Amino acid sequence: MAKVLSIVLGVLVLAAVAGSIFVFSMKPSTNRKSVHPLDTVQLWICLAEEEPHDFSMTVRELAARSSEGVKCPTCGSSEDLSRALECPECDRHYPVGRYNASPTHCLHCNAELPGAEINIFHGHEGH
Ligand SMILES: [Zn+2]
Ligand SMILES: [Zn+2]
Repeated sequence: MAKVLSIVLGVLVLAAVAGSIFVFSMKPSTNRKSVHPLDTVQLWICLAEEEPHDFSMTVRELAARSSEGVKCPTCGSSEDLSRALECPECDRHYPVGRYNASPTHCLHCNAELPGAEINIFHGHEGH
């Protein structure tokens, strides 16, 4: 009986250790310098005018604007806005997500972009 008990205890301890390691490794801000989740910067692009407007916003700023919606700080448009990623070549933003399919090449410097693959991956399945 004592043997069974010690096995059960051992399993419980193992589970607890594994659990705490799991929780620790799931912490969102361990990879960079500790950025609060609300201070995570989201990149955006405004396509209301011919020359795209790049802007970025923290999750905190976004939450504060949730009632009026996101607006382009350059032209004030609240339409034709898209989440964006940064071009690895020229650091300008390019659109990703549902409003515009990710371009395969940067709008600004024509560098090949990794976003196209992500777009294909999310392609026709789901939603
Ligand atoms: Zn704009
Ligand atoms: Zn570029």
